Amino acid sequence: MLEIKDLSVQYEDSDFEALSSIDLHFQKGEFVCILGKSGAGKSTLIRCINGLQDPTSGTVYWKDQPLSSLSEEDLRKIRREMGMIFQHFNLIPRLTVLQNVLTGLFGYRSTYKNIIGLFNKEEINHAKKVIADVGLTDQMYRKVEKLSGGQKQRVGIARALLQHPKAFLGDEPVSSLDPGTASHIFRLIQKMHNRHQLLTIINVHDVNLAKRFATRIIALKNGKVIFDDHPDSFQDEE
Ligand code: ADP
Ligand code: ADP
Repeated sequence: MLEIKDLSVQYEDSDFEALSSIDLHFQKGEFVCILGKSGAGKSTLIRCINGLQDPTSGTVYWKDQPLSSLSEEDLRKIRREMGMIFQHFNLIPRLTVLQNVLTGLFGYRSTYKNIIGLFNKEEINHAKKVIADVGLTDQMYRKVEKLSGGQKQRVGIARALLQHPKAFLGDEPVSSLDPGTASHIFRLIQKMHNRHQLLTIINVHDVNLAKRFATRIIALKNGKVIFDDHPDSFQDEE
């Protein structure tokens, strides 16, 4: 479903590679956690997977299509198939939960105020359904700025689900949450992952969360894969 071949990234003004000759293959149904210290290359990898970062060399294939060969428009379509959830949620604080979820159909970039008027009944009903799925029906018409961190990430998950994603990609989606809330959010991601048969790839700091939820752990160090296997055989080096 997703294949990464000989991928390297070197940022301008940097004298080392942020990612160095990475080869990885992912299948539908895998729940992958990416571990590694700050600076290991986790976020760069996620950004390459969804086409936000161009590799210096190597290729990312999504369903056998090399991302580098796609037009901006096709890339946008593919990004919608890869629901993204972010560390700082990337929501629009002054809009309601329902409005924020609907922005998922715009690919995160809209600033429309009367957003609900732009969608048909079917789209709005679907948005309400995914809001129910993440347990936020009671908060549907509240502004996102009034919500707790955990609730905000639930909105982020609902927004990703609205696009009927084939994958969930998370760049440290629980790093700004307390441990209890982080665990709730992981449970929700796992539930949606199972229900929709997704490929889930999440960067995470907390080894325990990765061991509890992942079917596969990938550890990065200095831009290289140093572990790629079942969580049971993962030994944290620290
Ligand atoms: P992680 O997510 O594991 O913390 P990153 O992928 O953010 O790692 O970073 C990998 C390396 O690339 C780090 O050394 C970081 O400083 C560097 N880096 C990340 N983004 C940029 C950028 N936009 N420009 C220059 N260097 C960057
Ligand atoms: P979860 O939704 O995963 O159970 P949350 O922290 O989002 O975890 O929610 C727990 C409850 O705690 C929320 O419904 C909210 O009422 C309250 N809460 C948590 N953090 C805050 C906060 N920063 N401000 C106000 N209420 C909060």
